[in-house]
Amino acid sequence: MSQVERLTRLSEILAELFRSPIPSHFFQTLGDQAWAAVPCDYLAVCLQDPERGGYLVHSQVDLEEGAMSRRVFSPDEGLPGRAISTGKAYLVEDLAAEDGAPDLEGVLAAAGLRAALVVPIRSGLDVLGALLFAGRPPIVYGADDLEIAQLMASGLSSALETSRAYDKLGGERMTMLAVLGSTADAVITMNPAGLVLLANAAVRPMLGLAPDAIEGRPLAEAVDWAPLRELFLAGRPGIYELPLPDGRTAQASLVRVATPFGEPVGLAAVLRDITLLKNLEQMKNDFVNTVSHDLKGPITVIAGMADLMRMAGPGDENHASRCEDIRDTAQHMADLVSDLLDIGRIEAGLDAAREPMDLIPVIGEALRMVRPRAETKTIELHAELPGEATISAVPSRVRQVLINLIDNGVKYTPAGGRVAVAAALATDVDGAETVRIRVTDTGMGIPARDLPHVFDKFYRVKNKATSEIAGTGLGLAITKSIVEAYGGRISVESVEGAGTTFAVELPLARP
Ligand code: ADP
Repeated sequence: MSQVERLTRLSEILAELFRSPIPSHFFQTLGDQAWAAVPCDYLAVCLQDPERGGYLVHSQVDLEEGAMSRRVFSPDEGLPGRAISTGKAYLVEDLAAEDGAPDLEGVLAAAGLRAALVVPIRSGLDVLGALLFAGRPPIVYGADDLEIAQLMASGLSSALETSRAYDKLGGERMTMLAVLGSTADAVITMNPAGLVLLANAAVRPMLGLAPDAIEGRPLAEAVDWAPLRELFLAGRPGIYELPLPDGRTAQASLVRVATPFGEPVGLAAVLRDITLLKNLEQMKNDFVNTVSHDLKGPITVIAGMADLMRMAGPGDENHASRCEDIRDTAQHMADLVSDLLDIGRIEAGLDAAREPMDLIPVIGEALRMVRPRAETKTIELHAELPGEATISAVPSRVRQVLINLIDNGVKYTPAGGRVAVAAALATDVDGAETVRIRVTDTGMGIPARDLPHVFDKFYRVKNKATSEIAGTGLGLAITKSIVEAYGGRISVESVEGAGTTFAVELPLARP
């Protein structure tokens, strides 16, 4: 075969080599076709594996049941090792006469192979490995073979480079997809032609879209949620608030995406669910509105009263009662402010340190404090208590809880009624020991529609029966905050016109 013919074969082999970036494809192509350019009975691609500290021999010809291909050869072993460490090519006339590695040259010689040619596979200053050709007589290698083999090795080197770059890109893409796939923010990108390039997993829970079903399709057609479609079509980068199909709210940032070389990739939208933030903002506004409203009321009353008194003069027969009204109203404001401060402290977790305390005497104290009020209203107070129940809490806060509940019972029960406090030890569903306290009254009850709201701050039932009864609407909110701060629960049951029961469950302190 002429050198020109061999070069033609070689160019065909190289063209085939670049058809796929996978190394096993290179091994196969060379194994099947290399002989057409460099005559041989055996060909091996030997590649360095820095992690395993040596080189591996890849060959389509299996001389000893794969033993050679499973072995890692150290860089000083065999002909390929020599080519790799010196970066030079070697021609061998008779493998049997070589004193090479028994696992390599030894095996080849035993298979009848005599002539050998080994060329390094270089990449810049590095040597990636070596190409090893071997043949049985009459094959012998000369300068022409060496030339072609070296060209083949440099073609293989470029193919290997491509394969590595491809791997690296693939790895980076996998990492990027993993990050995008695990974030809770929905990410959608659209290319300049209007096609969806990428949609991550979060678009499903947020927008109800299946990522696979929209990727590659025109965005205007694949995304049926109008606000998002319009955002993309308007194409103005910025931060927007976007309603979501299920009523939640997202913050959408629309950005232009470009490659590091400045070529436009398209538009990307990142959607973050900010429903919770929006709700908090709403709650804060409601809270500020209610507080200012509730504080303004009494201030107007006080101012009005003072005006009246100034006009009527000190001799007025209502003077004393008006002074009392001012005093009561001011007291109401003071209660409101101290309730608010309490809530703030408890919710912020700034309350005094807890200590193990017996709950039962505290129930007794609370009953003693409410008793005078109960007696003036001729309401019977009744208690049924166990000997002891040790919880971990701040005694004054527990007293506050009990006074709030018992006092409400007295406040919202007409004269002649009854308020009962019962406590008992119990085991909750998780097997933890608790104490259950029930405060039951025979009062006006709470209408069913108001029941879910009685623990809300400032919530008061508004009807004829309650209109004369003073209160801030904060007592139950404080009570609930305290109970929950101690790991407990509070619930209410009520029948309008018949009575109400508040039940509190608190974990017992571990001995
Ligand atoms: P308030 O200062 O108005 O008593 P609370 O937070 O203690 O505030 O209670 C909230 C509302 O729940 C009360 O305004 C009242 O309408 C209702 N309520 C609380 N306890 C009872 C009860 N034992 N019986 C009937 N209604 C009650």
